[in-house]
Amino acid sequence: MRLLVIEDDEDLNRQLVSALSDAGYAVDTAFDGEEGHFLGETEPYDAVVLDLGLPKMDGISVLKQWRSEDRNMPVLILTARDRWSEKVAGMDAGADDYVAKPFHMEEVLARLRALLRRNAGHATSDIECGPLRLDTRSARVTYDGSHIKLTSHEYRLLAYLMHHNGRVVSRIELVEHLYDQDFDRDSNVIEVFIGRLRKKTSSDLIRTVRGLGYCLASADDES
Ligand code: CA
Repeated sequence: MRLLVIEDDEDLNRQLVSALSDAGYAVDTAFDGEEGHFLGETEPYDAVVLDLGLPKMDGISVLKQWRSEDRNMPVLILTARDRWSEKVAGMDAGADDYVAKPFHMEEVLARLRALLRRNAGHATSDIECGPLRLDTRSARVTYDGSHIKLTSHEYRLLAYLMHHNGRVVSRIELVEHLYDQDFDRDSNVIEVFIGRLRKKTSSDLIRTVRGLGYCLASADDES
């Protein structure tokens, strides 16, 4: 999952990026509204963390503009404490959730997990596909109940496929959603990771759909 953080406070921006990277997300970052708006308009993010008080273009305007351009990714806004009117304006502008400053990083992470899950059509924090089970809270994957050890890149890839299970995901989509903008985007690495995941899960749950991409599906999903 690839996220965008727009926050002009440099310390806070760094803390967010580091916590989100540690949690396994690819993260791009912007320090003002103009740059943030541009990134959100041109790159396919799975979710955005948007501060409302920003230089050059305020958060509400960024959000309104995205929504009018049909950019529908989930957006979590960061609002000033005790400014209820800001929360209302943000939600009305198209935000999906908010966190008031100062916040606990754990709350931001939990709210983002919920937004990402709901956006992919999953109501609970566990996502299952046949014998595979992804616990999005602990970032653990089990197969038939046994824990599978994954590198962070393998985890990102499998988590993305599991959030979108049952649908064909192209290699380009994977590259765009798993890596930040500075990553050397060689889509051949995807194939390597898929091979490793197949080995680790000793299963054929990840199917190659020739010419289109990959699809994660358990036997009972097939009809
Ligand atoms: Ca600010």
